[in-house]
Amino acid sequence: MSFVSHVECTICRARHDAKRLLTVCEQCGQMLAVRYDLERVKARLTKDALRARPPGMYRFRELTPLDDGEAPVTLGEGGTPLLALPRLAAHLGLGRLRAKDEGQNPTGSFKARGLGMAITRSRTLGAKGFVIPSAGNAGGAAAAYAARCGLPCVVIVPRGTPRANLVEALLAGAHVFTVEGSIATAGKVVARVAPALGWFDLSTLKEPYRLEGKKTIGLELAEQLGWRMPDVLLYPTGGGTGLVGIPKAYDELKAMGWLAGPLPRFYAVQADGCAPVVKAFAEGAETTAAWDNPTTHAAGLRVPSPFAGRQMLAVLRETGGGAVAVSEDEIRRAHALVARVEGIWTAPESAALVAALMRLKDQGAVAADAEVMLVFTGTGFKYDPPPVAEPVHLEGTDAEMLERVSRVIRP
Ligand SMILES: *Cc1c(COP(=O)(O)O)cnc(C)c1O
Repeated sequence: MSFVSHVECTICRARHDAKRLLTVCEQCGQMLAVRYDLERVKARLTKDALRARPPGMYRFRELTPLDDGEAPVTLGEGGTPLLALPRLAAHLGLGRLRAKDEGQNPTGSFKARGLGMAITRSRTLGAKGFVIPSAGNAGGAAAAYAARCGLPCVVIVPRGTPRANLVEALLAGAHVFTVEGSIATAGKVVARVAPALGWFDLSTLKEPYRLEGKKTIGLELAEQLGWRMPDVLLYPTGGGTGLVGIPKAYDELKAMGWLAGPLPRFYAVQADGCAPVVKAFAEGAETTAAWDNPTTHAAGLRVPSPFAGRQMLAVLRETGGGAVAVSEDEIRRAHALVARVEGIWTAPESAALVAALMRLKDQGAVAADAEVMLVFTGTGFKYDPPPVAEPVHLEGTDAEMLERVSRVIRP
């Protein structure tokens, strides 16, 4: 059975029928969110029952919008490890630092959770095809899940999107188009194409199902920390699905009595070249304003006009967190550092968190004994590789090769 009570507008609170395929609020055009009868979930689900279930995001089925017996379109998303980062922590002068390694999801990023859920739910409610604007990973994930259920998908991305994202979408049989500009331009094209084709528009947070997939990061974090929350959580922010989804998970678990105490202080991390949330936060604005000429090599952060600006800013303010922008150079250095000291080739978006954390630690905004959580949103494998030294080529006799190896290792 489904535990969904209704779908609600996050701004005007208008109620919508959860059995219909929904996009944005029909009253005010704002973002919708799925609401549950949490008393009933609490009565039916126990932490013990959960322990016996297989890993993955559907272990929290009662807190997803799936109907009774509804089979998810799945590639095994979720169930990613919570990695302690002791060597990085020591480097930064911190005691307790962990990363949720979302790069270990199918398609190499946490987009698998959101798009898996959005495609599952919208297909059940009647979607016959999908259209998505993307900075890269979302398009790749949408293409994969559309292929998985045999439905067509249109992916529209800015020119210059990482090659691996185009390849994964094309391999999965999606129709891929590039546009000049950013994901904002792609979004404008999608808004025309989707209704013309009669296919479902999967634009970030312009439908309520993706958020429910992203929310499962927060559910897993709570369980993996032994039903506790960290003190501080840093999130690399583009459209903000996790920044809105993770606190939603925490709030639902609190309402069920499974978590207690204040939410972590949430920090949005962006790049200097595209920082609409940082700017709006600093100005005390109610929502974000469009960022002109967005530039950053961290593709997922190149989102100049996020739809859920208002909701993200509310999370940052209500939890006593903040917003930090870092430079391209800081991202590159942090990226290399994470690989060298912890062995994680993560996405540049995740590396931005480490750069921001250094800043927050130096400023005293994060204390040395704070319990800090980073959401490492994707794998580094999908980006154009950073410059590295060439490997040393070995040739000649065994003795010559041994000599060369020795000289490289102990110069
Ligand atoms: C999409 C993406 C982001 C940004 O996520 P939002 O939910 O849009 O804020 C960050 N990192 C990676 C790797 C991404 O693919």
